[in-house]
Amino acid sequence: MSTGPESPQLPFAGSDTDAETDAGLRVIHVAVPRPLHAVYDYLVPAHLPLPAVGSRVEVPFGRSQTIGICVADKVDNPHGKLKAVAAVLDEQPILPGDLLDLAHWMTRYYHHPLGEVLATLLPNAARKGAPFKLRPSDCWRVCHTEFDNPRAKQQQALHTYLAEHPGSSGAAVVAAGFSRAVLRTMAKAGHIEMVDDPDAYVDLQPETPPQANREQTAAIDAVTASTKSYATFLLEGVTGSGKTEVYLQAIAKHVAAHRQVLVLVPEIALTPQTLSRFQRRFAGIARVAMLHSNLSDLERLESWIKASQGLVDIVVGTRSAVFTPFKSLGLIVVDEEHDSSYKQQEGLRYSARDIAAKRAHGLNIPLLLGSATPSLESLHNVTLGRYAPLSLANRATGAAMPTYHLIDMRGQQHTDGISDPLSHVIRRHLKAGNQVLVFLNRRGFAPTLLCASCGWQAQCPDCDARLTLHRSPPQLTCHHCTKRFPEPDACEACGKAALMPVGLGTQRSEAGLQKLFPEVPVLRIDRDTTRSARALETKLERINSGGSCLLVGTQMLAKGHHFPNVTLVAVLNADAGFLSPDFRAPERTAQLIVQVAGRAGREQKPGEVWIQTYQPESPALTQLIQQGYAGFARQELTLRTQAGMPPAHPMAMLRADAADPGKAHSFLEQCKQRLRNTGISVMGPVAAPLARLANRHRYQLMLLAPQRTHLHLALDRLDPPQVRGDLRWSIDIDPYDSL
Ligand code: ADP
Ligand code: ZN
Ligand code: ZN
Repeated sequence: MSTGPESPQLPFAGSDTDAETDAGLRVIHVAVPRPLHAVYDYLVPAHLPLPAVGSRVEVPFGRSQTIGICVADKVDNPHGKLKAVAAVLDEQPILPGDLLDLAHWMTRYYHHPLGEVLATLLPNAARKGAPFKLRPSDCWRVCHTEFDNPRAKQQQALHTYLAEHPGSSGAAVVAAGFSRAVLRTMAKAGHIEMVDDPDAYVDLQPETPPQANREQTAAIDAVTASTKSYATFLLEGVTGSGKTEVYLQAIAKHVAAHRQVLVLVPEIALTPQTLSRFQRRFAGIARVAMLHSNLSDLERLESWIKASQGLVDIVVGTRSAVFTPFKSLGLIVVDEEHDSSYKQQEGLRYSARDIAAKRAHGLNIPLLLGSATPSLESLHNVTLGRYAPLSLANRATGAAMPTYHLIDMRGQQHTDGISDPLSHVIRRHLKAGNQVLVFLNRRGFAPTLLCASCGWQAQCPDCDARLTLHRSPPQLTCHHCTKRFPEPDACEACGKAALMPVGLGTQRSEAGLQKLFPEVPVLRIDRDTTRSARALETKLERINSGGSCLLVGTQMLAKGHHFPNVTLVAVLNADAGFLSPDFRAPERTAQLIVQVAGRAGREQKPGEVWIQTYQPESPALTQLIQQGYAGFARQELTLRTQAGMPPAHPMAMLRADAADPGKAHSFLEQCKQRLRNTGISVMGPVAAPLARLANRHRYQLMLLAPQRTHLHLALDRLDPPQVRGDLRWSIDIDPYDSL
């Protein structure tokens, strides 16, 4: 709910009809996409149809027009002078009842204005007023198998192409080198035709699923037994235990019973690899729609419409796909349910996992959450009896779990962060023809550029943060505001040419590894080298087809991938994550270590995980290694409960930022006054750990409550002070971090 300087302009300020003078008027409530906690009354003029609840209307608002959603019709006691609806965009509601209910719930739960909640739910194109109907498909096939006209070379070639690729889109045909003109000519002559459902013409044979093992069968049965009742299952399965196989077989059963399925995956996981796994399994059996970030607004809208009309069976998508409307949704699956990408970190700060639970509950259908490293929230819900636990204890292929080893770094020699014992182990694995994955969760060359003579450090002028040194290309970058600067030759404070990089980033490890092992290729995978899913896919293919090599990278490498030849995973700096001041840092770090470790030894050859640490006695790390993630998580949950932190005690964060620190601070101070005597504990306001970002000073107020109802009642009564000038503020319910 960031409220800008713009002051609300009320829609009924004009001189239109006075509602109280005529009892026969048709009046509706409209939610408009503005940060205002109100819905507005509008008059529906006689020449327009009465819009259904859940359809879009164009209305005058302030001095302009906007598109809002009709949220109530037949309003009885309209207020004041009414403005008239300018246009009704939909005959049928575009938001079905269950999504409208969800929006109302989100408004209360996230303390966010209804109009903005609805705007977040809708695909961009729908929000901007695009018609809610499917365009002609622009997908093509041949009408007859025969076409014999050797003189029309292009036509002949197109015919051959479409015979081999039935259902190709116009764009694909053009990409294959044909012109739109030849497409039109062939269509006019009746040689080719448009098809509605391209997937129906892909005549691939679906692959045969493997025989589910005993634990998998138990999980599949549980999720398919409860068809018309709500239940949430938490599938905790070690890396490579066949969780995805459980999803696929459970989905197949629901689809066979004509129920649709929604699958949520983390952002990083929606790669062509995922796509092809679903396509191979469901070819000719089910229609699969993928909601990935490369879709255009209109393509996204089409998937929405198709799902709502029952024209697709399975929707696989990232966070916002949780809002897809369905005709007959029967199951929701959330893969890697602990993943941070399910939490939106700006605007409406919702959690797609929690919304999935709310939707499943509202629709009376099962929800399947899966992870090798479940969130403490979900584990807590299991202890409370709200979620049913399912488990896969072993790897499905029979491969052993990797063994863990610690390297005590105190007093240890190292080359660019790689200790002698570690380089020994790496050499052993490379000699055996295997691949080695080196994990370091920091991009760039070094996180600090320090003057050896006077101690000066390169700082971002706009943030309270150090600049990261990059070598390819050479520059200093702020990882917070993304500003870049040329690398200086000399110290800005004392002028001496005594600058030295301190600390470790992936570029430096890459250089160090290349020095130590000049005979093998080193591949770096992080956001600097691998921007798109496609680029990542290309690299993964190269890794999986090749022999011995070194991979170095950030968390991009940690999740989901299957590297058959990786036998060693090295974690260069396990301490950094555990040392962060954030309350969730230990959980996040443990998840990351276990996920990256899970890349080792996934096939016949056993895997090893070596972890470098300066704190080999740290309780979190030793627990993780000796008792695995489950043991660590149980202990961490106890600590959080004792500290009165989530998930045992619900948390909300009020954040404010402004160019003037006093303004942000005093806004939160006033909020704090208003939250007095509400039975919740309010801590702060304090400066955020990153106190200044892009020249704005950031403060926060932490709210903790014994019970959720207390938290919501307090926030209902908050009635935030008037916002002035450049101040921005937000409420974050169940924040993902306190940074
Ligand atoms: P997870 O999602 O838990 O990481 P996957 O479902 O990707 O695990 O399975 C890991 C590997 O094991 C894959 O190669 C998959 O094909 C294989 N697999 C899964 N279940 C079985 C099974 N029941 N029998 C044989 N192989 C299986
Ligand atoms: Zn200096
Ligand atoms: Zn900065």
